Amino acid sequence: KRQSQPSSEALISNILKGDITALSRAITLIESKNPQHSSTAHEIITGCLPFANKSTRIGITGVPGVGKSTFIESFGKYLSKLGKKIAVLAIDPSSSVTKGSILGDKTRMEDLVKDTNVFIRPSPSGETLGGVARKTRETIILCEAAGFDTIIIETVGVGQSETTVNDMVDFFLLLKLAGAGDELQGIKRGIIEMADTIAINKADGDNLKAAKLAKVEFSRALHLYPKKASGWQPNVMLCSALKNDGIDAIWSNIEAYLELTKENGYFSKRRQEQNKYWLIQTIKEQLHLAFFENPTIKKALTKQLHLIEQNKTTPFAAADYLLNLKTDL
Ligand code: GDP
Repeated sequence: KRQSQPSSEALISNILKGDITALSRAITLIESKNPQHSSTAHEIITGCLPFANKSTRIGITGVPGVGKSTFIESFGKYLSKLGKKIAVLAIDPSSSVTKGSILGDKTRMEDLVKDTNVFIRPSPSGETLGGVARKTRETIILCEAAGFDTIIIETVGVGQSETTVNDMVDFFLLLKLAGAGDELQGIKRGIIEMADTIAINKADGDNLKAAKLAKVEFSRALHLYPKKASGWQPNVMLCSALKNDGIDAIWSNIEAYLELTKENGYFSKRRQEQNKYWLIQTIKEQLHLAFFENPTIKKALTKQLHLIEQNKTTPFAAADYLLNLKTDL
């Protein structure tokens, strides 16, 4: 069954009106593996680009169970009451491996999905981290063009995805738990370095005392790091996503960060750096695909691999040969 597809012009004009159906359709085109969709997707992105860029992009990470979805639900509802329009996107490379996603499935954030100021989109599936990242970057542009002024990008605290998210947001929030074993040992150094704020979640009930203690320890640890290029001193806050405690303070904190970095020029400089970085990343990814998906190369590569097995060539000679093959790359 073929579903008739609206033109890219129609989709663009409806996205700019804030039409969620058009937005969702356009994102589906971005995520599509069908090569026929990619030119339409590009037209839409180009059409939306002049209207993008006007949002606050916030990255949120933390290990499974730390309370990310509960936090985003509480935080999202708070922002919605302030009159903000919030898009929640996810970067979940695990879904490409396991076909099941840790993040972003529809059953999470049940209240938030009903909020008309909120748009929730799960992570594109069946992609490498690079693929997920590019699609999410493009999705950010469409969401901004559709009038979303706060973009939340969620990722799970395992592996490389935090760095990827950090490279596309203005502010990075790390959620932690108190008393989760050996507090400062288990932290991946790189992630702490990226954090603009560490929020210790589940600071409620019997857990409050431990959370306060963890706050002191994390604050001490943060001061050991060199000052950030943003001029912002990363800080530690307590919150209870479940009880909606400390959510307002976290938002005020983000506002203070935005004020500082917009005034000292870091905000726009960072976005420029991110754009340059994504340009290079996109080229790398496209070249990679164009090379490895090319039928001539595929055949020749199989042959060269075979020759390597027989010690009849070296990796370097084989690479040279393959890279110099005349193809329609
Ligand atoms: P995620 O895997 O990081 O998205 O974590 P979830 O948001 O699914 O939360 C994991 C569990 O922790 C759930 O049972 C939540 O109800 C619970 N939880 C989340 N935030 C809090 C909190 O602030 N306080 C308490 N006591 N429990 C919480």
